[in-house]
Amino acid sequence: MTGFSVLLLVFTVISSFFCNSYAQRKPNIVILFADDLGYGDLEVYGHPTSSTPNINILAENGLRFTQFYSASPVCSPSRAALLTGRYQTRSGIWPGVLIPGNKGGLPLNETTIAEVLKQEGYKTAMIGKWHLGVGKAGMYLPTNQGFDEYMGIPYSHDMCPCLKCFYPGDKCFNTCDLQFTGCPLYNGTTIIDQPVDLLGLVERYVDRAKNYIETNAKSGSPFLLYFAFQHTHHPQFAGKSFRNSTLRGTFGDSLAELDWAVGQVMDQLTKSGLSENTFVFFTSDNGPSLRNQNRGGNAGLLKCGKGTSYEGGQRVPAIAHWPGRIAPGRTTELGSTLDLLPTICKITGASLPKATIDGVDMSPIIFNGTKGVRESFYYYFTEPNPKYGLYAVRNRQFKAHYYTEGQINSDPDNHDPDCRPTSKRTARDPPLLYDLLQDPSEQFNLNNVTEYQSIIAELNELKASFEKGMVWGTSQITRDVDPNLEPCCNPGCKPFPICCMCHQKYHSHYYKNSNMYP
Ligand code: MG
Repeated sequence: MTGFSVLLLVFTVISSFFCNSYAQRKPNIVILFADDLGYGDLEVYGHPTSSTPNINILAENGLRFTQFYSASPVCSPSRAALLTGRYQTRSGIWPGVLIPGNKGGLPLNETTIAEVLKQEGYKTAMIGKWHLGVGKAGMYLPTNQGFDEYMGIPYSHDMCPCLKCFYPGDKCFNTCDLQFTGCPLYNGTTIIDQPVDLLGLVERYVDRAKNYIETNAKSGSPFLLYFAFQHTHHPQFAGKSFRNSTLRGTFGDSLAELDWAVGQVMDQLTKSGLSENTFVFFTSDNGPSLRNQNRGGNAGLLKCGKGTSYEGGQRVPAIAHWPGRIAPGRTTELGSTLDLLPTICKITGASLPKATIDGVDMSPIIFNGTKGVRESFYYYFTEPNPKYGLYAVRNRQFKAHYYTEGQINSDPDNHDPDCRPTSKRTARDPPLLYDLLQDPSEQFNLNNVTEYQSIIAELNELKASFEKGMVWGTSQITRDVDPNLEPCCNPGCKPFPICCMCHQKYHSHYYKNSNMYP
């Protein structure tokens, strides 16, 4: 070996040591994302009969937001915004949500948190509900969006025929979409089970999450875990351990199972010695589905729920957790799922994607307990339309509604007529004005009070400026669906969709006395 080669070898060993050491110091990122979990659903947000002991611990040791917003009042756009830091109107995840058979999905040229972190040497995994498209040959699945691995149902579990929701064989409440294929469970881009048994699903998710954490702990790789629960979207479900486990009924049992899963992930981080070096963020994709009445979630003191631009649609529980880095407590600063990407970039030293980012770095709030960067928030309706634009704008404590509209996810008999599906789109000129610090329930309209006219003018300017800068991405959610794109482990089979099954034994056992399939 020449002297030069020896030098090169020494340099390589030293640099490898430092690179690995640096990599090991990079914090892990865990995003725990609940579905349709409202502002008033958790014990720590005041629900009297929910049972969430593990989330209680997370909150006691973490920072609890009181004014945190999902980017949309429904699933797909909210998830697109979380992963990209961009409003759904930019990425094209509008209007509404994706369904099985949709040709579109989150455009591949959008940059996700997973893609950002992969460039920093992270391992990346997604578990659970994706809801950002499947597409031809699974082209929009998570493994094509920056995630090394994926396990989950790629949409809501009501978008496949409901089988069994509670052990042993209690009926599923609420309707499911019978015309679609059975719920497929993916591993990567391969369906490993169809229809999947919901009763054991969370245990499978948790096993996968624990193995992933432990594997990365052993290898020393920093990692991203994006764990998006099927819970607590309707129909509610829970395995044997959680059936009839709470005073709250089926929603409470479902939430208890979600809570158990959160506890399992947190316990594994501790067991693997990673809790001191892991940023955990828990939140929800949108407010509660009020149309499911006592089997839907609860927005607490907020007005309306899922699907609307009132506070109940988008203000959600949120907890940031990192022992030794984030001081336990409660904040009244504004935050949003849009802000996770910039915050994670800041934490990990990653560069922001080269795109218009709507989120801001939340570090001042969560690490320093100081004032946040975000002062305003912009609300698009469930089905945004360039013709109408923003439905509402918040700046500091003031919120103006330019349009109001009820939504199908609301209870038709809701005590508040503004929330009902029958409440048609109504232009508000001047806009309705609320002071959300004094009136979080949006009850006392201030728009005819003289001293607030300058506030309205300011909100009008913010709205105009924001809309001027909004470049609407091509809509990926069209009514042009192709049943052949519905995930099926037995593609091309007939009669469709009943033939889409991987577990013949389970399927025939269940369907012997069932006429749920057409
Ligand atoms: Mg949802």
